[in-house]
Amino acid sequence: MSVQLLDGKAVARATLQSLRSRIDALSRKPGIAVVRVGEDPASKVYVGRKTARAGKLGFRHEEVHLDASVSQAELEAVVDTLNADDGIDGILVQLPLPAGLDSTAILDRIDAAKDVDGFHPNNAGHLSQGRSRFVPCTPAGVMRILDHYGIDLEGKRAVVVGRSNIVGRPMAMLLEQANCTVTVAHSRTRNLPDLLADAEVVVAAIGRPNFVEGGWVRPGAVVVDVGINRIEDGSLVGDVDTSSASERAAAITPVPGGVGPMTIAMLMANTVTAAEQRLGLSGEG
Ligand code: NAP
Repeated sequence: MSVQLLDGKAVARATLQSLRSRIDALSRKPGIAVVRVGEDPASKVYVGRKTARAGKLGFRHEEVHLDASVSQAELEAVVDTLNADDGIDGILVQLPLPAGLDSTAILDRIDAAKDVDGFHPNNAGHLSQGRSRFVPCTPAGVMRILDHYGIDLEGKRAVVVGRSNIVGRPMAMLLEQANCTVTVAHSRTRNLPDLLADAEVVVAAIGRPNFVEGGWVRPGAVVVDVGINRIEDGSLVGDVDTSSASERAAAITPVPGGVGPMTIAMLMANTVTAAEQRLGLSGEG
């Protein structure tokens, strides 16, 4: 049986298309502000993609670029200004911040109603109780891909490798809420291959190129590769060794073209939801 490729680009296109009518129903453009500090090259690329997509959808979009020498107080003042701007529905601060800045304090300062990244403890708490408001974009995008391809999660044994607040931890909550039986693995986990041997669904969010070997994958598993790693020859690879994993998995997300495109699509969806909620419409949540 050949592996099914879970095409995130196609799902992202469909997700963005479905936003059009919701955007048209608003009394004003949705507004998003992205704060970037310093000159991290990857952050520059990611922020550029986010604002470009927002522009294509007709959002009001702003990039606030600050020098790496900005103080904590100055950065907090920028967040306060965006919090108070009625035309801005979504605020995100691109991570990582330069050393010396307290990113937790900055993320906590964003108005939870504008927290379209879903990193504010208020939104993380809502998610943990199964009454989510803004779900972090990458795990939300994974769930959208699985739903799009009709992957049945009910009662499945899932292993999430990685426990970051951005990906692994919220991913595990979403899978549990979809009635998977979830195990979370991390750097101190012993015998990861043994855990994966039993996993019907695997989500890898580790940040180590080709780390999950094909031989660890249970035949017939669904494998979602969140990793994006640039290797020496300049190409992008995931956290899963795609070619060997494809020989055993029933379905797999490619890198690039899998989870990556969904992250921006879900950011746009969260921003439309924020605008709907702030304009007194229900918002899809
Ligand atoms: P992170 O904050 O560095 O977290 C990595 C997680 O992997 C940690 O929980 C860590 O465990 C775990 N880990 C590290 N080495 C391990 C090992 N040998 N065995 C098992 N677990 C191990 O990274 P992240 O932000 O979650 O991102 C993970 C990956 O996803 C990266 O490649 C990143 O580029 C990618 N990513 C992609 C998107 C997208 O749009 N597709 C978005 C976000 C991130 P400990 O907690 O014990 O340290």
